[in-house]
Amino acid sequence: MNTNLLNEAEAEQLQQLIAESKHIVICAHKSPDGDAMGASLAWKSYLNQIGKTDVIVCMPDAFPDFLQWLPGANTVLRYDKNPERVQEAFDKADLVCCMDFNQYMRVDAMQPTLVGCKAKRILIDHHLEPETNNDITVSRPNMSSTSEMVFYIISQLGGYEDMSKVCAQCIYCGMMTDTGGFTYNSTRPEIYFVIGQLLSKGIDKDSIYNRVYHNYSVNALRLRGHIIANKMQVVNELHAAYFTVTREDMRRFHFIKGDLEGVVNIPQQIKGLKLSISLREDTEKLNLVLVSLRSGNGFHCQPMAVEFFNGGGHADASGGKLHCSIEEAEQITLKAILAFQDELKKK
Ligand code: 5GP
Ligand code: MN
Repeated sequence: MNTNLLNEAEAEQLQQLIAESKHIVICAHKSPDGDAMGASLAWKSYLNQIGKTDVIVCMPDAFPDFLQWLPGANTVLRYDKNPERVQEAFDKADLVCCMDFNQYMRVDAMQPTLVGCKAKRILIDHHLEPETNNDITVSRPNMSSTSEMVFYIISQLGGYEDMSKVCAQCIYCGMMTDTGGFTYNSTRPEIYFVIGQLLSKGIDKDSIYNRVYHNYSVNALRLRGHIIANKMQVVNELHAAYFTVTREDMRRFHFIKGDLEGVVNIPQQIKGLKLSISLREDTEKLNLVLVSLRSGNGFHCQPMAVEFFNGGGHADASGGKLHCSIEEAEQITLKAILAFQDELKKK
């Protein structure tokens, strides 16, 4: 199977950039998910493997608790906690690798540090409409995940033979989480070829699944129950559902970061549902509502995220934010659903 992702010139350029670099920073988007973390740590593992000893992963903020087990997660530098150390790493870097995000603003408060950095820059990502002001931009929106891309790139650069189990675990985690355990964005046969290759590195895929998905605290599971039972609104005739999560809801169930990960997917279990929207009050900033959208059954939520929620993302998994109260956010959501009613109504 030819899984080369880069053309010859790109592969050569990438190899040369890496060869010329001594101090490397890897970064990914705010609220790093399994793919952002998996791709970053797998890439770090590869760079270490080929002899790059100074490779620092810098994230804008915290990653969820269920990713703590990822090999190397404890070495990640957080901008929100250690802005000076992150700045220092960028200042020293001769190469910055941007993983799993398309727009520089996706690194949030770390953006000035990233765009002000003099180092060479490569971007490896699978979102639509990437920023292209980089020395190398590898954008493949048809890929399941950035982690899948990292697998192909490592292989193309000749690193598969020596790939460690640790690296394979990180890649598998990213591919698994960005496809909801291979339930969406995962119909390309190559994905299963890659999984085979990762398994032959000795990864235990069931254990990775358990570590990521069977990791709820009692409170976190009860919070989900509360959202489904008491908060979810369903507009039956438009095949749409939405819910709000307030700071009060979070306080009641002792919310910690990560507890609501993936909760927007739950309403999609309703037969025929096309659109699910989660509206969550920010835990710190007042009048900031974090929005997640998921779609299926022939509807695509990305245009709605752009038009109504100051966001974007993938065709069927998008996000955004609103600067208003949760009540106003609910009104905007109803407006958005109505604006797309013709598409949503269809059986
Ligand atoms: P989530 O709902 O998991 O937070 O986000 C789903 C997807 O939507 C992410 O993978 C990302 O591509 C996209 N996304 C989330 N927030 C934003 C945003 O504020 N702006 C844009 N352009 N995309 C976002
Ligand atoms: Mn991703």
